[in-house]
Amino acid sequence: MATVEFECPKCGQVCAFGDQHVGRRARCTKCNTCFLIPRTGQRAHVLKPAVSEDGPWSGFWTALFKGTPAALCCPDSLAATAILIILSVLRFALGHPFYVIPIPFFLFVIPVPVGIFVTVLTALSQSRYVFNIIQSAADHSDPLPPYMDGNCVDRFFDGIVSAYTFAVLAAVFLAPAGLAFLFTKTVMQARWPVVIAAAVGLFFLPLSLAIYAYSRDFVLSFRLDYIVRAARKAFGPYLAVYALTLAVAVMFWKSSFYAFNEPPETFFRDGVMHAAAAVLMILAARTGGLFYRHYGCYLP
Ligand SMILES: [Zn+2]
Repeated sequence: MATVEFECPKCGQVCAFGDQHVGRRARCTKCNTCFLIPRTGQRAHVLKPAVSEDGPWSGFWTALFKGTPAALCCPDSLAATAILIILSVLRFALGHPFYVIPIPFFLFVIPVPVGIFVTVLTALSQSRYVFNIIQSAADHSDPLPPYMDGNCVDRFFDGIVSAYTFAVLAAVFLAPAGLAFLFTKTVMQARWPVVIAAAVGLFFLPLSLAIYAYSRDFVLSFRLDYIVRAARKAFGPYLAVYALTLAVAVMFWKSSFYAFNEPPETFFRDGVMHAAAAVLMILAARTGGLFYRHYGCYLP
């Protein structure tokens, strides 16, 4: 087991924790300052108290309603938002799984599945960025993180890891909904068991994603006790995170790919919906990060 060493962000005292505690909240033994335990090589940031001194609102709601507009309106955040929107609309416009371009190659014709490429590449890029938004919001950084950081090879491989993690966590929490779907298909004809199972599963997903985003620890993000404890401790704020997550999930559920035989009005209407879904995704990710900053993952 490795040890993470870093300086207290307030008094400079050297703190050391086992790396299984990365991403959890702790206090400096000298000055009692609260921080999240950073990964090796990263700095810890002072965590403001969950109840702010300057008003009756808790720090979470202040950060959400006052901090979010300011965070999203700076030029860097607007650029990142624009990229995320463009990728969403691109996936809608060109990501149809049957969109294949035949390319002649000597005597053969090679069918290139452009739609699948577009879907996979945009999904890799977006899932990586969503984790970065959560992490930076948890870490006290107000504007959105830059979209194009590091080189493109690293971004590609980070994208694969992020999309894989996202898919596995979603599959685990939505497995009951999948079973309910099979059950309702074969035994009874009703949709409500699937909807309820999906709604319950999605309750756990945002905090699980936030735990991964901050700690980059795959195993830690399955700790149901961390998730339940934090959600119980701050149920109201967690409902805000949950509502945004549900909204994003519904938009993805309802969204489809543009088929080229559809009328142009459909293209416009659904394209706008995909742009809106991208903005909602940013809000959900940022709110999840803020929740983690204020309530997530305490050391016992
Ligand atoms: Zn200290």
